[in-house]
Amino acid sequence: MSENNLIKCKLLKKEIAAGLCQDIFSVSCKLIKREAVKEIDGYTQEQIEKACESCPYTD
Ligand code: SF4
Repeated sequence: MSENNLIKCKLLKKEIAAGLCQDIFSVSCKLIKREAVKEIDGYTQEQIEKACESCPYTD
């Protein structure tokens, strides 16, 4: 993780805050609903799961 706490998200294809990553990851694990995170509007659950599952930030 970089010093300014931004991480390169392979789903959104841009740098995002660690907190947003955490929220999206929670959606991928079905801990929170997709509708709760507006940044991932337009992505399917499958796309989110696939991206976060293979993402180095989730290791
Ligand atoms: S875990 Fe998911 S939300 Fe976080 S950076 Fe990776 S792809 Fe993006």
